Amino acid sequence: MSIATVNPATGETLRTFDPFGPEKVEAALSLSAEAFRTYRTTSFETRAGYLNRAADLLDAERDDAARLMTTEMGKTLVAARAEAAKCAKAMRWFAARTQRLLADEPVAPDDVKDSGAAEAYIRYRPLGTVLAVMPWNFPLWQVVRFAAPALMAGNTALLKHASNVPQTALYLEDVLRRGGFPEGVFQTLLIESGAVEAVLRDPRVAAATLTGSEPAGRSVASIAGDEVKKTVLELGGSDPFVVLPSADIERAAAVAVTARVQNNGQSCIAAKRFIVHTDVYDEFAEHFVRRMAALRVGDPMEEPTDVGPLSTERGRADLEALVEDAVAVGAAVLCGGRRPAAPELKSGWFYEPTVLAEVTAKMRIHREEAFGPVATLYRVADLDEAIAVANDVPFGLSSNAWTRDAGERERLVRDLQAGGVFFNGMTASHPGMPFGGVKRSGYGRELSHLGIREFCNATTVWIAAD
Ligand code: NAP
Repeated sequence: MSIATVNPATGETLRTFDPFGPEKVEAALSLSAEAFRTYRTTSFETRAGYLNRAADLLDAERDDAARLMTTEMGKTLVAARAEAAKCAKAMRWFAARTQRLLADEPVAPDDVKDSGAAEAYIRYRPLGTVLAVMPWNFPLWQVVRFAAPALMAGNTALLKHASNVPQTALYLEDVLRRGGFPEGVFQTLLIESGAVEAVLRDPRVAAATLTGSEPAGRSVASIAGDEVKKTVLELGGSDPFVVLPSADIERAAAVAVTARVQNNGQSCIAAKRFIVHTDVYDEFAEHFVRRMAALRVGDPMEEPTDVGPLSTERGRADLEALVEDAVAVGAAVLCGGRRPAAPELKSGWFYEPTVLAEVTAKMRIHREEAFGPVATLYRVADLDEAIAVANDVPFGLSSNAWTRDAGERERLVRDLQAGGVFFNGMTASHPGMPFGGVKRSGYGRELSHLGIREFCNATTVWIAAD
């Protein structure tokens, strides 16, 4: 994929970039290693100062940053502004709390009383240069949720961002530099995915994180495994949204729409499969389909637009193929299922919000991730069947369930195969809560005290009793 800004709302190529050659990559690796030598010794206070200043800059430049994201990947301007604001907030969150999250952790004397220790504790030290391979769908947030904790922990970072968001990648590097981070602490590498292997194998790179698709994750993890380097993988998801009879059905349907079409339907934690108890299925389906059909598809720069284009022509073609396959095998199209007819939307990669029912295990969409505004509806007889359908995918990122019954909630927490369970609302990330999945959704956690420790060397310190 060439490195370029192509506006998904118009299909117009606005700017192209030459990928870094081997000399430029070598210079970045060497600068990163050199920066780590001194940066690792800086205090939490110093790092927090840089990060807070970067957050102030991002807040001040929110509109420009948002326009850049919308231009490069098509999310609505309203969503892009919210994303920039969320990034600044997360930067401040880690700036304020890292000293506590990474404080030396004493080992209880009773737990090691037979080890001969007068004292034992854990020190969280940085690992070194971490390579981050990131996707375009939340072009600032995906990077910030890795970079804010990783830099606060004293690591240096190299970013290989998705090829369709080069300007956002360069902007983030610039904001962090202007915030005060020393040269080399955070660098963007404009490289194609084929150039990742050499960087990852370089001895100056200590670890890697990848957010993206399963094939990309498998490739990076196997190379890192070969090099015995730590990885965190945040991969795809096909999150269930379970609706049970005690729920507020109208509210559940309203939230379901947002949960499905947020970010033009291109979110790993979007609810994608709506699994509804038969007693409330018709009521839910009626509200849900009416609201999905009423969404306004259009220019993402315009405030009233609910759903903008898909980020790439390929992304739309993949989504269309999933819908066509389902319809050919008997799925019912309750709304959408096609490109919008409006002439002004012809040159962009738009797709109508779509609801499919009568979905069966024979259809690809039953097991694969629909990365766009397409929902599947399932009717289930009881909680057992709801859990079985929810778990019948290779993914396990997050999950959503609507019930006022504490017993049902306990069952769902126990049995849903996912990295999160959100009740009577929709999955959302927050710096204070761990984020990550199980099964083919990856491993490791981002955010929270768990996320910041992923790229730390948890060092055992043991001091003998006299
Ligand atoms: P993708 O194709 O895997 O791209 C993600 C990143 O990986 C890009 O920087 C891409 O570079 C790079 N890449 C692709 N193939 C690679 C390879 N073989 N070796 C090294 N790097 C490689 O993913 P996408 O389709 O753009 O993004 C959508 C996917 O990401 C969805 O499955 C979504 O669910 C997932 N996602 C997961 C999370 C999460 O937190 N779990 C969050 C957001 C998105 P190029 O752009 O140059 O190809």
